Amino acid sequence: MKNFLLVGAGFSNAVIARELAEQGHRVTVIDQRNHVAGNCHSERDSETDVMVHIYGPHIFHTDNERVWNYINRFGEWMPFINRVKTISQGAVYSLPINLHTINQFFGKTCSPAEAKLLIESQADMSISDPQTFEEQAMRFVGKDLYKAFFYGYTKKQWGVEPKELPASILKRLPVRFNYDDNYFAHKYQGMPKEGYTAIVKNILNHPNIEVRLNTAFSQDMKAKFDHIFWSGPLDAYFDFELGRLGYRTLDFEVFRAEGDYQGNAVINYGDENVPYTRISEHKHFAPWEQHAKTICYREFSRLCEEKDIPYYPIRLVKDKALLKQYVDKANKETQVTFVGRLGTYRYLDMDVTIKEALETAEHIKEALASNQVLAPFYVNMDV
Ligand code: UDP
Repeated sequence: MKNFLLVGAGFSNAVIARELAEQGHRVTVIDQRNHVAGNCHSERDSETDVMVHIYGPHIFHTDNERVWNYINRFGEWMPFINRVKTISQGAVYSLPINLHTINQFFGKTCSPAEAKLLIESQADMSISDPQTFEEQAMRFVGKDLYKAFFYGYTKKQWGVEPKELPASILKRLPVRFNYDDNYFAHKYQGMPKEGYTAIVKNILNHPNIEVRLNTAFSQDMKAKFDHIFWSGPLDAYFDFELGRLGYRTLDFEVFRAEGDYQGNAVINYGDENVPYTRISEHKHFAPWEQHAKTICYREFSRLCEEKDIPYYPIRLVKDKALLKQYVDKANKETQVTFVGRLGTYRYLDMDVTIKEALETAEHIKEALASNQVLAPFYVNMDV
């Protein structure tokens, strides 16, 4: 039996804690915040009674049956399909780009085959292997749709020209030649009936797990534990001694209204001159509930500074160079494993986070069984 300290109580460490506890180890989970669930934290708004995604919208979607079954052990999940709209140049369109979007945008009534031809006539087919966000967009949707839906939004979201960003960011979004407007293409999608925090609390509810909130990590804790799982920022573990990895942070302008404000959970704003990227109306994330009032988050993205909450790892060339240095440093550690979005500095969806946490716990079990030193990383950190 080992004595583990897990720093950060988001999905990564909650799942690792549970698995290690079930393996018979003693687990202490600390978080400097006054709640568990990290940035997935949800809380009922006292004024409207709406369940609010405090750190911005989180929609659970996965193709991974194991992950889906796992989270269903810890609470009830309700059917939810994310159908995003976007407002651009004074009109509202369906996202992700689908046959409706294409027909609306070009003022046509194309069939799927006609729409394919239309998009091919727009696309830059000379780009065979798109490397950047811009190339990916030019290759798959062409200039006009790119400008209307992606250019301005992406510049606002990431603070750089889309040609500086990797194609992988846009690859998150499909282009469809039918009327399917489900934002995600995954087999399973849903919302926790009582919010994400209730799920994470249930995951952590085990006799071998002790949770301490409002507790920051300090170096002297190391001596009391066999091993540490660190889900905070990788550079923060080393007191930023090599510099700071770049993140985007989000500011939310919260406002309330009577009834229904925008008729949908998420509406994006594609125009560059609208300063926010999207508005989330939280009651629509829980369509099974009824509320007279409504609460919305107007979302602004900007560079993360020292006192801000890190959200999206930027991973531009300079960040990757610094990341490599931190990974080299981390690889020399024998008492800590870095996990999750912040610990490994990757843009991770919740389902991938949970999948990796389950796999990490398996690796730990194997390593302990064969008396190996636990590794700093159990995911591929090639930069
Ligand atoms: N994106 C865009 N316009 C949109 C929605 C998304 O340009 O209306 C781009 C943007 O660069 C964003 C990326 O596609 O960062 C991925 O979008 P997703 O909705 O997956 O972002 P998330 O919800 O994780 O912020």
